[in-house]
Amino acid sequence: MTKRAYNFNAGPAALPLEVLEQAQEQFVEYKGIGMSIMEISHRSKEYEQVNDETQQLIKELLELPEGYKVLFMQGGASTQFTMLAMNLLTAGKTGSYVMSGAWAEKAYQEAQLLGDVAIAASLREGGLLNLPSISELKLPENSAYLHITSNETIAGTQFTAFPDTGSLPLIADMSSDILSRKFDASKFAMIYAGAQKNLGPSGVTVVIVREDLFKDAPKKIPTMLSYSTYLKNNSLYNTPPVYSVYMVNLVLKWIKKNGGLAAMEVRNREKAALIYNTIDDSRGFYEGLAEKADRSLMNITFKLQSEELEKKFLKEAVEQGFVGLGGHRSVGHLRASTYNAVPYESCKALADFMLHFQKNIG
Ligand SMILES: *Cc1c(COP(=O)(O)O)cnc(C)c1O
Repeated sequence: MTKRAYNFNAGPAALPLEVLEQAQEQFVEYKGIGMSIMEISHRSKEYEQVNDETQQLIKELLELPEGYKVLFMQGGASTQFTMLAMNLLTAGKTGSYVMSGAWAEKAYQEAQLLGDVAIAASLREGGLLNLPSISELKLPENSAYLHITSNETIAGTQFTAFPDTGSLPLIADMSSDILSRKFDASKFAMIYAGAQKNLGPSGVTVVIVREDLFKDAPKKIPTMLSYSTYLKNNSLYNTPPVYSVYMVNLVLKWIKKNGGLAAMEVRNREKAALIYNTIDDSRGFYEGLAEKADRSLMNITFKLQSEELEKKFLKEAVEQGFVGLGGHRSVGHLRASTYNAVPYESCKALADFMLHFQKNIG
């Protein structure tokens, strides 16, 4: 057995060991066809089955009602920032954004290049990292949609509820928390997520759309940047990222086998609690960067009393087999990403290491 690291990378991030082993088993020869899945046509019946089954699994796990389609696209969540504006920000319309942090900001800035945008809610000034209140949104009359980032990966903040927008399409970037908990997906007109945090490897972006969303989209959109191309062609207009979709398929089956979203949520809460409790019980030795009410179950951001101490922490952590605990370069400090595939044991080991480190220093 190879020794697996305690992987707290923010993205690309940990994958379930079981999934990696299954992929390894099928790597050279996929289901007796004498080739790997990477070496066959995306129009083969083998890949078509992966394509259809993966869509079906996402619908099933999210309990999506009729009228939704699941698309597999490329260019990461970042390309969705552009595409959704290109397809929805028609003349006279405004894209409304909940400004929750760095990722929301990027989505907003991309839309601004293409049309009118408005800020529906902003962060509160001062204090710890927080989330805007979504109970009073400022929505212009001519809003085309409301965009929200369910989990701010860099700050470590996560919405626990979503606004009711009535007939106004609600669009979410769920790149870093999709399938990590139960929520009412039918509230959303569109949900998108780069796969490399909670769904699989990088290379594919999962996009869930209500079929009527793009009915008024401008006619003159480049083919590859038009959602209708993917809708009409079952995500097979051009060559899809076959291996990435295949890996997402295995991850979805793993989630299903392990109890679906309700079970993921229970486990994710337990995992995050191990680390947050260690922070909160440390009498100020560790401090969380986010306000308690806004804390993310996926990205736990925290700090120590000095940069020097943080350097020492990271150095010792690496020696003990912990990976990915440095904060994002824009926020600094420390971050532990505890996505679905991060085992409880890794979180327990981190909590133990944190206690041990504090004892030795303090
Ligand atoms: C990582 C991330 C992105 C960017 O994803 P790419 O696939 O690299 O473009 C966007 N939004 C959120 C919330 C993220 O965590």
